Amino acid sequence: MSQFKGTRQFRSRAALVAAAHHEAGHAVAAFFVRIPVVRLDITKCVTRNPFFGANADQVQDVVARLSSDKLDKLRLKAERLALVRLAGAAAQRRHRPSSVRETHGIKDLAEAAALLKCFCSDEEELRTYVYLLQLRAKSLFEEPEAWKLVKAVAKRLAEQQTLSAEETARTIYETLLTETRARHAAHSRPKLSGSQSAQ
Ligand SMILES: [Zn+2]
Repeated sequence: MSQFKGTRQFRSRAALVAAAHHEAGHAVAAFFVRIPVVRLDITKCVTRNPFFGANADQVQDVVARLSSDKLDKLRLKAERLALVRLAGAAAQRRHRPSSVRETHGIKDLAEAAALLKCFCSDEEELRTYVYLLQLRAKSLFEEPEAWKLVKAVAKRLAEQQTLSAEETARTIYETLLTETRARHAAHSRPKLSGSQSAQ
């Protein structure tokens, strides 16, 4: 899931912040689809991945032997994992479209396609399936609440360069808590009547 090879290669603060948004996008999408983040740094987001390391033939073999119920479950799992892969570029694009180069996210895209390939009968179907999940990743970050989480994780990642699983989760939960408190405070604020507001 890496697009930058090392922090020394960042040409500017803006490039580092863009990379932080990319990796934060992976981490926040993983949070929403309940895939644990193992470690997050400025060049990669490591998640727990049951498909990772299995080659396409092995997956194809497993798929061929599954009942339709189990196949549906596996397909949904593959979709969640693929969404996480595609969320990096989606977040980076939402942060600053001009920071996204053609080469960015190619590895993520290839990994997403590899996850979905065994559920498609041809290339066109696969391309469309990947595109659907790219749209879902884009929609996720159009939600203000999800985007605030990306901003919070990216800010901390740009400062620290590396976040443990616990630090990533804490940043997400603290941001959610702050948002919830702010919403409650706004709702519980007494409304001023006409006479009070005139005072
Ligand atoms: Zn990535």
